[in-house]
Order: sequence, then structure tokens, then C-alpha cells
Amino acid sequence: MSKKATDKKSAVPKINSENEEAPKSTKGKGDSKKTPTTTETKVTKKKSAIDKLDLAKIDDIDRTEIEVEKKIDPSSPCVLSTKAYRRMMVYGLRYANFDIKPKNWREVYGILVGKVDKKGVCHILDAIPMVVGDRAGVIFETKQYVDMAQIDQSIFERAVNDQTGQFICGWWHTHPGFGFFFSEVDTITQLGYQIPNPFAVGIVFDHTEKTENFPGVEALRLDDPTKGVLAEYITSELEFDKSFDEVKKEADRSAEKILPKFKEVKEALDYIHEELRKKKMAQLQRNYGLILVPRSGKKVTEDEELAEEENDKFLYIWDPDFSSKKYRKPKFRENLEGRVLKAAQRLEKIAQTKETKKVDPTKKLEAAKKKYRQEIEKLLKKPKEWVDKLKIQFFNIIEQIDPFYDYLDTEERKIIEYLDERINKYTIALDSIEYQLQFKSIQVPQNKKEESN
Ligand SMILES: [Zn+2]
Repeated sequence: MSKKATDKKSAVPKINSENEEAPKSTKGKGDSKKTPTTTETKVTKKKSAIDKLDLAKIDDIDRTEIEVEKKIDPSSPCVLSTKAYRRMMVYGLRYANFDIKPKNWREVYGILVGKVDKKGVCHILDAIPMVVGDRAGVIFETKQYVDMAQIDQSIFERAVNDQTGQFICGWWHTHPGFGFFFSEVDTITQLGYQIPNPFAVGIVFDHTEKTENFPGVEALRLDDPTKGVLAEYITSELEFDKSFDEVKKEADRSAEKILPKFKEVKEALDYIHEELRKKKMAQLQRNYGLILVPRSGKKVTEDEELAEEENDKFLYIWDPDFSSKKYRKPKFRENLEGRVLKAAQRLEKIAQTKETKKVDPTKKLEAAKKKYRQEIEKLLKKPKEWVDKLKIQFFNIIEQIDPFYDYLDTEERKIIEYLDERINKYTIALDSIEYQLQFKSIQVPQNKKEESN
């Protein structure tokens, strides 16, 4: 069975575990390490739980009480930002719109980023596109999980550092022509979000429902997550951060501007992947390799005993020789570093030269440094030219893609991120060698000078 076969059902716990961090960043909700057991999230539909959930008073309440108070009304309101709506609408329209035959429409899936205010209103600030599926369903693959974990991590860090209070507050997907509901698989997905975080919402977009007066989106939650797959979905109140007229205008304008150009964007991404990464970057690394190459076979573990017992299979993460065991140096880099080391050894000797009337050791040392530097710099000339050229080509394309970046999904963003990362690694290695070529630490000893004075 391929990875695809893992399907959403088994995927949900993964989403869960990635998300467990998220509620911690919302004030008062995650202060206690204890995850609320599902029985605590009973929903009282009539009396709005938001009234009871006065987060401003959070410090006066015993922590265990907060857990009990964490019942929220699943129909409690959400505010959707124009940006979030624009991103989900345009990304959704890329794969299902009236210019495409309905049988070729495809569903898309993404995650929501937002925060909950003191009144318990969930503000959805952003909707990040993740993946396109087929006619009636989307499947997460490893790529998307990695991306989601990274997004979660960066949101969490921002929440902690800048007190944004933001977290992954749900998910969104499209139902092209199907209307607003949760399928069984959707319910399972929603459970993955709503159990750890009762505010989590699932937004559904159906472009065929979009009219002059209706945005084509609805926000859904489960009435009672403790019922598991038997839970029923209900519609939550959904407002926008601006008037609907303004939101619609902005979103429609983006769609008009963005959608016709997507063929070019895809071509640009293909060029990055096929030409710049697979050909040029690979060739640079093959001919003038500087980026460390991971050795295959060994798994990294934090379990020291396991690493000792099965050292052919595992590598201990705190092993002092971790880097050399995990990575090997490309020949070009090994050769360069060998030369730098040899030069440094010779320079050390020169630095020890005794001063005479004819010989000034400092001058002699500087001249020797220059000679070695020039010698080794020659070897760096070509790779520097190549990487600079590659950078210019890459950044030109990035500039071209920039207005479309909001509507790229995981896979597309990864194409950009990957090459960016490779170029960065290469440049850092190059800079590091250039820095070493200054031989700054090699100096004529101070006392020697004084002696001879
Ligand atoms: Zn669905």
C-alpha cells in the first residue's frame, strides 16, 4: 500500500498530535498541561457558553475549573478575514471554476490560522492552501504533514515571542458543486481539530453557491465531539472583518488578476524544479560540491541505549561525532579544506619566524597569507560565478511569482523553499571558506615582537 492509502482516517491522529501545541498559545485555554478529556467538552446549545467563558477573569479561577468551563457553543461566531477568504476562494477556483468542466473539478484543502478573543469569538486571520485532491476528496501525504508541522511551529513561536495568540484554528476545504456539509471523512478530520481545540472550525467553500449576496462559504463545527463519528455538524455564525461588498470586491479582483496567469506560474515553478534545481544546482554541487551529503541508512535517535545496542542502524543525536557520522563531505570541499588546513600550518610556522634586520615577521606573514588566499581563491572562482548566476535567475523568477505566492500550496511552496535552502547552504559553506582564508587567528606572537624590540 502506498502512502496515499493511509487516507484521512488514519491521518487524523497525526493532525492531532501536530496540533496539540496550538491551543497552548491561546490565552487561558492551554495553561494547564492536562488535555481536557472529551467528556468535559459537553455542549450546551441554548445557553451560549461564551457568556460563561470570561477569559478576562481567568486568573481568578482555579485551573481545573477552566477545563470545565471550556465548553463552548459550537455555533459560536467566527470572523473571517478578507485575506483568508481571498486565499481560499482563489486557490479553490484554481481547481474548480465555471471555465472547467464539472467532471474535472477538484477539491482542495488548507488550514486556518487565527485566534480567539475574550468573548470566545474565533477570528480566522489566514487560510493557507495545502493540497489539491480529486473530484471528491483530498489526501494528505508526508509533504503536507511536514509542512503543517512547520507552519504550526512557526505560528507557535510567533505566538510565544510576539504574543500573537495565534494558532491553527481549523481547516477548510472545497465542495465544488456539493454544498455545505461534513461527509463522514470530513467529520473525522474535524474531530482531529475540534477535540484538542473546541473552537476549531471547518470552513467549506463551494464556488457554485457564491452569488452577489452570498460568499459561498460556511463555517461548520460538530455539535458534540464526544460522540465521535456520530457527532453531527452544525453551522456556526460567520461574519467578515469588512463589509461583504468590500470583501467580495477584493476577492473577485484577486481572482480576476491571478487565475488567468496561473499557467505561467506553473511553468515558472517547473523551471525552478527541473532546470534550476535538478540541472544547475545539482551540477554545481556535483562539480564543486560544498553542501554536506547525508549518509544513507542510519536513523537518528534520542535514545542513547538504542544507539549503543544497534549502532549499525541508529545514530545517537548527541554523539560528539554526529555531524561526521551523519554527513560526508563532497570531494571538492574536502580538498579545499585540506588546502586551507595545510596553508594554515605553514602560516603558523612563518608566524614564528625570528625578526632580524632584514626580516619583518608580520610583513612576511601577511605576504604569505595573501599568496595562499589567492591560490585557493582561484579554486573558488568558478563555483562563485555559477552560484551567483543561479541566484540571479532564481530571484528573478521569485519576483515574478511573488504576487501569486498566497495561492500556492504545500508542494509548490516546497519547490521554492527547497532550492532556496540549497542555495543558502551552498553560500554559507562558500562564505565560511572565504572567511577561513583570511587566516585571522594566525598572528605573529606579541611577546616575540617585544623580545626583539
Ligand atoms: Zn468534504
